Amino acid sequence: MSLDGTYDDGNIFAKILRGEAPAVRVFEDSHVLGFMDVFPQSKGHCLVIPKHSTARNFLEEAPEVIGPLMLGVQRIARATRAALNPDGLMITTFNGAASGQTVYHLHVHIIPRWEGVPLGRHGGGMADMEDLKALAELIAAKIS
Ligand code: 5GP
Repeated sequence: MSLDGTYDDGNIFAKILRGEAPAVRVFEDSHVLGFMDVFPQSKGHCLVIPKHSTARNFLEEAPEVIGPLMLGVQRIARATRAALNPDGLMITTFNGAASGQTVYHLHVHIIPRWEGVPLGRHGGGMADMEDLKALAELIAAKIS
């Protein structure tokens, strides 16, 4: 799959939204869900997805969904900074397989970074669930 294609509601993020697959949730409102990436590229790597969407990527998304989505991203990014004190944060979307996209429901990565700590591999090792839950609680506690 690449930039063009049909939305498949069997994708893992659609299943998480329907409650058919587990996720370590950080924050949600009526527009977005934020949850921990299970193959994190850094400590605190979180994903934010629109709840009411069949956009496979950022380019396809309806303009009225982008605003609330990015507000949710900013809210979680600010909470991540407050909770984990990173030196920087990557906020990114991959669009199309050639860019590295692997899940075809629009999502925004929030990846905290620390000086001297290399970025983990995209799609690397699976995190320990208890570690993810602890991080999610720290971030959630700083949501304002
Ligand atoms: P993409 O490669 O499409 O930009 O990002 C998909 C992200 O989803 C990857 O960072 C990957 O680690 C993450 N991911 C894949 N499967 C799951 C899953 O079942 N649960 C969670 N929480 N994250 C997933």
